[in-house]
Amino acid sequence: MSDRTLVGKTALVTGSTSGIGLGIAKELAQQGANIVLNGFGDVEGPKAEISALGVQVAYHGADMSKAADIEAMMTFADNTFGGVDILVNNAGIQHVATVEDFPVERWDAIIAINLTSAFHTSRLALPYMQKNNWGRIINIASVHGLVGSAQKSAYVAAKHGIVGLTKVTALENATTGVTCNAICPGWVLTPLVQKQIDAKAIALGISNDEAVKQLLGEKEPSMRFTTPEELGALATFFCSPAGNNIRGVAWNMDGGWAAQ
Ligand code: NAD
Repeated sequence: MSDRTLVGKTALVTGSTSGIGLGIAKELAQQGANIVLNGFGDVEGPKAEISALGVQVAYHGADMSKAADIEAMMTFADNTFGGVDILVNNAGIQHVATVEDFPVERWDAIIAINLTSAFHTSRLALPYMQKNNWGRIINIASVHGLVGSAQKSAYVAAKHGIVGLTKVTALENATTGVTCNAICPGWVLTPLVQKQIDAKAIALGISNDEAVKQLLGEKEPSMRFTTPEELGALATFFCSPAGNNIRGVAWNMDGGWAAQ
């Protein structure tokens, strides 16, 4: 008999061709969940990595800034696997500039991808979860859903917004088997963060290692990155029976960042 805890469940992870989303998709697949991948860039590599874990995997290339694409992806997931039991809203982008210099188009894209997409996926996934009286919505927010940092206005606004959406979704389903929670990572070494390290190294004329040390030293007392595997393990915990009555939390995994 399998001791994998999520056999028979389907997990859709947005933005799962890279970084945190791929790490979470792999952890859920380790537990036996079938996976719907989404995101840009290399698809065949992530698909093969998930298949190797002995589960079924499908991919949809919906652009998370477009409601019609998201609707098509959710219909695709229903048609492929019968419905989504575990929804991980993870797709996200970043742009760094002061409020007065922030390009309007970047603001709109960040709010659409990092916040509004989670509203669309959630509204479309909830009826199936409610019908089964079991479901998990896990929103990948950020420590920036709890505290601010200069030059990240759109990102911090979107992440605070998704923490709010998490609470409301949790409350509306509080008497059911459907839970909704947020995970709030500190720094995780993914392409999204490597871009910020590169920018720091260039701006200050320092090495990659020195830029990493400075980046962590500014905010993260543990002086180390959280890993996608650690975040995947927390997502798996939310999916376990121990998570049945965890509702509306914004759980930081941030090396002590928000404790300061
Ligand atoms: P990443 O750049 O490695 O991955 C982002 C993923 O989202 C990729 O698969 C990309 O293809 C996808 N994506 C981007 N725009 C998309 C769109 N319009 N439609 C569909 N998919 C799209 O980034 P990451 O660091 O893994 O970030 C994942 C999530 O974790 C984001 O929501 C981010 O805000 C959050 N987060 C990251 C960190 C960190 O330190 N890396 C910290 C806290 C929170």
